[in-house]
Amino acid sequence: MLSVGVNGYGTIGKRVADAVVAQPDMELVGVAKTRPNYEAERAVANGYPLYAAIEERAEKFDAADIDLAGLVEELVEEADVMVDATPSGIGAENKSLYEEHDTPALYQGGEDADLVDTSFNARANFADAAGADRVRVVSCNTTGLSRLVAPLEEEYGIEKVRATLVRRGGDPAQTDRGPINDILPNPRTIPSHHGPDVQTIFPDLAIDTLGLKVPATLMHTHSINVSLTGDATADEVRELLESQTRTFVIPEHLDIDGAGKLKEFALDAGRPRGDLWENCIWGESISVEGDDLYLFQAIHQESDVVPENVDAIRAVAETADADESIETTNDALDMGL
Ligand code: NAD
Repeated sequence: MLSVGVNGYGTIGKRVADAVVAQPDMELVGVAKTRPNYEAERAVANGYPLYAAIEERAEKFDAADIDLAGLVEELVEEADVMVDATPSGIGAENKSLYEEHDTPALYQGGEDADLVDTSFNARANFADAAGADRVRVVSCNTTGLSRLVAPLEEEYGIEKVRATLVRRGGDPAQTDRGPINDILPNPRTIPSHHGPDVQTIFPDLAIDTLGLKVPATLMHTHSINVSLTGDATADEVRELLESQTRTFVIPEHLDIDGAGKLKEFALDAGRPRGDLWENCIWGESISVEGDDLYLFQAIHQESDVVPENVDAIRAVAETADADESIETTNDALDMGL
């Protein structure tokens, strides 16, 4: 059994913790938090050993009557692999903590690529993380783009990707984010930083990305154009994407017109928190004009990186190869809609 600790128990951390618990070959040895908030309360209710991430704040947990198992250093010492899911930039500050205890660590997409030995997407470059000490599971958008690029590159070859990312203003619980009544080119410079981030996974890929932010919280939406090198029909591309395990091609008859119905579909399917771990690609949008493929996909920013974190744990621990790990993760989470 792989012992896994999670430092930073927010949107991503709590989902990764639950996914680790669901794996047959992993044990969650604990989670670390800075504050005794509602998520701390639920961690304890779930039976997850809770550690204080900041020693000086440990007394706040006592005051809130929330039992602590210890300090984060003890968790890092006990874990075979740590998953750092702290806010952007804090992961880099935590690097020395993991190194002092000689514990390999996964970081999230908010950290810089140069913090780590390799950036990671299970479908695209699992083997690069074998035995690494520092791995960055790329952001929600980069994960969504990588899952699309990998099979297209393998099957047809790619001349260039052009992607416009219509990004949610904030997650549902992020009450301090926005815009609340605007559509922002964001970043205003073109191309956006997302393309270079995808190149941390596919160094030779030609890709330009543009970003916007809109007053929505549920999901991102990508408008994609891929110029293919080889010949393809829309039907062939559709079949290819249907054959992938983490791309869900939404059938037309479901009559799903946006992120609201997608989330409702996930809740109806009994998905925890209404999570959509897969890229959600509108079947009727898959079109080929000459060499150009076009499609729309929705990305659930809060959850698509969760199975990737689980696979990255096995990659750094070298307990499985890509196919084995992806299959185990998918089965344990009951992936597939
Ligand atoms: P979050 O704010 O929801 O959760 C972070 C948690 O870490 C919070 O509970 C916070 O209290 C805690 N924390 C703060 N400082 C800490 C410290 N020093 N030690 C331990 N815990 C600390 O953030 P999130 O959305 O889960 O994002 C985490 C990482 O995942 C970031 O790098 C982010 O860029 C990346 N990410 C986020 C999303 C998303 O849409 N939410 C998607 C993909 C990747």
